[in-house]
Amino acid sequence: MANPDEEQPESQQTQQTDDYYLFKIVLIGDSAVGKSNLLARFARDEFHPNSKSTIGVEFQTQKMTINGKEVKAQIWDTAGQERFRAVTSAYYRGAVGALLVYDISRRLTFDSVGRWLSELHTHSDMNVVTILVGNKSDLKEAREVTTAEGRALAEAQELFFIETSALDSSNVNAAFQKVVKEIYNILSRKVM
Ligand code: GDP
Ligand code: MG
Repeated sequence: MANPDEEQPESQQTQQTDDYYLFKIVLIGDSAVGKSNLLARFARDEFHPNSKSTIGVEFQTQKMTINGKEVKAQIWDTAGQERFRAVTSAYYRGAVGALLVYDISRRLTFDSVGRWLSELHTHSDMNVVTILVGNKSDLKEAREVTTAEGRALAEAQELFFIETSALDSSNVNAAFQKVVKEIYNILSRKVM
């Protein structure tokens, strides 16, 4: 059995045996929408009020239980590369899921969603399970993108949709769970 913490050949990034699943999931979206904080909240229940701009790709492996089975989500964070529009094809390679994040209080980040989708489709399989995530739902006064607009875009692009807050934890687990569960269901159907 492979150790998910070690670098693995491409073909093994999404691995599956009887009781073992490892799914590569990428976080994408404009700078400062809250990608790193969504991961910090999900994996460690932490929130960081100030952005740290680490350069280089990082990922975290998180155990989850789906339908009674243990699944490992290997969640990749751009760690600041997107600031320079330099997210590499290696980042996307082997991904089976994606969280495409925008900030509900900054319309420009919502306007970028189409660009992120085409980048995702350029570098990976069309079937990557993708959820559109409107983050910072706690910033009610500063909202620039309505929930209805987010949902409409998701429907048009055939994405799942959710609004989250890494600050107050709202829907953060649900966002990751949705993607992982859907991947799991697709894989189970293929196996059976
Ligand atoms: P990234 O560049 O997409 O990884 O964004 P970060 O996770 O670094 O977050 C950028 C800034 O937004 C930081 O100052 C965070 O504290 C803040 N932030 C992230 N998520 C939320 C949220 O849900 N609500 C609020 N109010 N601020 C957030
Ligand atoms: Mg970040």
